Parts: sequence; structure tokens; C-alpha cells
Amino acid sequence: MSKRDYYEVLGVEKGADQKEIKKAYRRLAQKFHPDRNPDDETAAEKFREVSDAYEVLSDEQKRAAYDQFGHAGVDGQGGGGFGGGGAGDFSDIFGDVFGDIFGGGGGRRRGPNAPARGSDLRYNLELDLESAVAGTTVDIRVPRHITCDRCDGDGAEPGTTKDTCPTCQGMGQVRMQQGFFAVQQTCPTCHGTGVQIKVPCHKCNAEGRVRETRTLSVKIPPGVDTGDRIRLNGEGESGINGGPAGDLYVQVVIKSHPIFHRDGKHLQCEVPINFVDAALGGELEVPTLDGRVKLKIPPETQTGKLFRLRGKGVKPVRGGAPGDLLCKVVIETPVNLNDEQKDLLRQLQKSFDGSNSHSHSPKKTGFFDSVKKFFEEMKP
Ligand SMILES: [Zn+2]
Ligand SMILES: [Zn+2]
Repeated sequence: MSKRDYYEVLGVEKGADQKEIKKAYRRLAQKFHPDRNPDDETAAEKFREVSDAYEVLSDEQKRAAYDQFGHAGVDGQGGGGFGGGGAGDFSDIFGDVFGDIFGGGGGRRRGPNAPARGSDLRYNLELDLESAVAGTTVDIRVPRHITCDRCDGDGAEPGTTKDTCPTCQGMGQVRMQQGFFAVQQTCPTCHGTGVQIKVPCHKCNAEGRVRETRTLSVKIPPGVDTGDRIRLNGEGESGINGGPAGDLYVQVVIKSHPIFHRDGKHLQCEVPINFVDAALGGELEVPTLDGRVKLKIPPETQTGKLFRLRGKGVKPVRGGAPGDLLCKVVIETPVNLNDEQKDLLRQLQKSFDGSNSHSHSPKKTGFFDSVKKFFEEMKP
């Protein structure tokens, strides 16, 4: 399934500011929230989509990467929308929208210092048909967050101490009165960690994670198709508070090919032929992925006729017999005729105009007979 554009998902302009993005997200998240739409799979899916979009667009760093690379490489899978991402992600505003209305978020909210698995990442890999069929190894550059090695993910400059957060007294959450509701919110001072860092780590600026672009060598098995994905264990975002890293999913997209159209394990191609060859029959050279092969065209071949070359398709990645190559013959009307050729065609035309012209063009004769009948029946 291909992902929709994140701006489109939230219904905002490309240049929308954080306020507009937040507003759009709140509106949609409220509309599709699972607690409001119990047992509604479509709403749940929409909710995930909206959450994923917000997770990326609300983070200036992720948003910049998304603007540059699209979905490729930048976006976490987001899972159910919860648990991924860093501190201070969308669960913040989620908390204040739904806090008490939906019962305080229940078990979804993790404790401030609990280990959490890193987000999965997705990388859209475009492959040409030949490499996809034969299999290949590609180097991909994947931007991701990894645990800061200076502070070991702690966020504090090594050798310095941390205080209990004065705003939340170490709870990670604060309660606020908002209109009729008492709202539980992630602490804005410590972003839910419950501690206050006195001296931020010089390398990650208290984030605990740094962004890094790694080059990974990915082995692509022969036969992959658009929609297949390859999982690289532990190559996603690093975990939070010592949690395990997420996975990296390499999502395969096959580029369109100038000659072949792929349909699962079968390939299709169009072969233009001269109308003389089509009429008299002959031998044709057609392309296959492993070289040219000869194809016999019987006399009186009509345009659109399909010839099946068994086993000249793709060997499926999950095993099984290779598919076929379907060659569709298309008759090409000759162009740029010289006078001599035009004369020859006129002679041919004259010979067709003889008494048994209908026998050379049964389809045409049949068609014009029907047309004639049609107009006669229309007459009053
Ligand atoms: Zn706090
Ligand atoms: Zn650090």
C-alpha cells in the first residue's frame, strides 16, 4: 500500500506553520480516535495515518527530511502511533485533547523513564526491472536517530548531576484546569522525563539521541516486486532509555520499464510489426530479459494478437515456476512512403476493389453492413 502525502493527510498546505499543523491534527485525531470509533477498522487506519503524518510534520528535523526525500528513509512506521518517537512527540498534544475525556490515556502512556523500543523506519527503494528480476545488492543511505555516545542517551553532560524536575516533582505529568476539564499533560519542562538536566550534553543538546546517516548494504533477492519489503532487524531508530532499536523496512518499488510491463510473475510487451509481415507471416525478433528470441508470426495475423512465450517471465521471489512473456503484436501503418510505394499500394487497393473485396476484409465488410442496417432502421 503506498503512503499518502503527509500534507494531504492533514489537509494543510506545504508551507503550513506548526500552529496550523497542530490544529489540523487535533481535529482529525479527535474525529478518528479509536475510543470514539470502537471496532471501526477504517477509522483506526485513518487515525494511524494522521498520527504518522503529525509525528513527522511536527518535528522540524523530520519534516525537513520528509520535504527532501519524501517517505523514503525518513519516516518511522509509527506503529500504532504510540510508543515510537522521542519525548515530546504528538502524545503531548494528544494528552491535552483526550486526557480526561477518554480516561487519561489509560495504559498507553509509558512511564517517564521506562525503556521504549525505537521506531521502525521505512525506506522506499526504487529498482529497475532487470535488477529486481536478477537480484542485486544496493547501498542505501538511511538517516536515523541513534543513542548519543557522549552521554549514553542520558541527555546530561557526562560528570554532571540531574535534579528532580521542579514543575512536576518528578512525575513527568502535570494537571491543568482547562475549561470544564481537568487535563493531564506531559510536563512541558522535562517532557515527561521527570528530571531536569543541569548541563545539557554538548553533543546531543539533552536529546539523548543524535541524527546520523548510515550507509547500509542491502541484499535484494531475485524476483522481488513492488510492495515486497525486506526487514533489517535493529536498523531502525535506537530505543529510548535503553530499549531495543526498531527495524528498518526496505520497501521495494519497481520503476517502469521502456519495453516490459510487469504483471506479477508475467511480463508483457508490445511489438510493432509491418502490415506486410502481418499479412504474409514471418519471423520476428522479440526482446526477453535474457536476450532476443525468434517468434514465428503466422500469415493473416491481426493487430492485438497475443503470443505467449512460456517461462520468459519472472521467477517469483517466494519460489515457483517462472511466469510467461506475453507479446502483443501491433500493426503499424507505414509512414513516409515514396511515390513508388504509394503506386504499389494503389495497385493493391485496386486489386482489393475487385468483385470479392469482402473476402479480404471480413471484419470491415461486416462492420459496414451493420452500419448500413443501422441507418436503414432509423429511417421513418
Ligand atoms: Zn517535569
Ligand atoms: Zn548526548
